[in-house]
Amino acid sequence: MNDNPPDVHLAIYGPDRFPKPSPFAEHGYLFTVPGSWPEDTPAHTNVTDWEMAVYRTTDDGDEWQVRDVNGNRRVWGTGDSRREAIGLAFLEIARKRRIQAADVADKRKAAGLEPAPPYQVEATSSTTLVLDPARPDRIAILDHIEGVGITPTVYRVHSTDGVTEWDIPARPGVTLRTTQLGVLHIRCGCTPEDTARFEEMGQVMYYAANAMTMCWPCPKNPEELFTVDGSDYGPYPALPATDSWGPYEPISVTRATAEHIAHDLNTLNAGCGLTAQWNGADLVFAWDQRYRDDNGTQTVTPDGDDRYQIGGLWPWMRWTDRH
Ligand SMILES: [Zn+2]
Repeated sequence: MNDNPPDVHLAIYGPDRFPKPSPFAEHGYLFTVPGSWPEDTPAHTNVTDWEMAVYRTTDDGDEWQVRDVNGNRRVWGTGDSRREAIGLAFLEIARKRRIQAADVADKRKAAGLEPAPPYQVEATSSTTLVLDPARPDRIAILDHIEGVGITPTVYRVHSTDGVTEWDIPARPGVTLRTTQLGVLHIRCGCTPEDTARFEEMGQVMYYAANAMTMCWPCPKNPEELFTVDGSDYGPYPALPATDSWGPYEPISVTRATAEHIAHDLNTLNAGCGLTAQWNGADLVFAWDQRYRDDNGTQTVTPDGDDRYQIGGLWPWMRWTDRH
């Protein structure tokens, strides 16, 4: 456990900062407690940064007090010196946040969820292009919009190499297109800043399709993404189960992903003659002569890591190889 508070930058405030009446002294200092503090709490429990004030108490000029500015305005630390009061406030906030993180972990466990949301979609960059029908050959990247009120008059733009700048009048036909690029992290240990977290792949795909122009998998992902050859199912995060992997060889998936695969088979491919049913921890595939020449079943039992090796009944394809 690392309980050394991060470096604190103090900014002086004066009587104008807090309208009267307020519990803060007229003069003091403002500083920030990062939402990621303390470092040992998981990223999905982080909060926004807190603005704090430290000042000499009005009753006792020898005592310093730390109070949060935008929340309940409670006292988090007091001390004989500014430094001591700030240090104690950081400790108390760490204690409180660790309790909250443990509480979140208990609730996730009780709900049958993984310790942390397995999917994170990170927004890496956003660019807005100005499309000018008069100059379709020229890619214009928006710098800012000039105008009166809410009506734009001119788009200030630059070229892709950043060398040339020019203005495009906001006339009819000129449109804006924003591209949002993203990276999908799956159990890779990354804790990116600007992130949306999800429990299920379906939510990820919906979010990525609607909020992103492009979203590609993080190279650190231990798992790859697979789909059924010739379909848009999934994608399913999985490990190839053999070294020399081929489409009819199994992929290894978690129980949650196995449920996703079974559900897609039974609903999206209903009537194909192949179904999947749960029998306790086992996943049983059953087919009739609509699917193959014979009737048959295949039972998939979880391995020691509670993973399911699913394959052989249809061809898999790497998600990145689809067209
Ligand atoms: Zn990652």
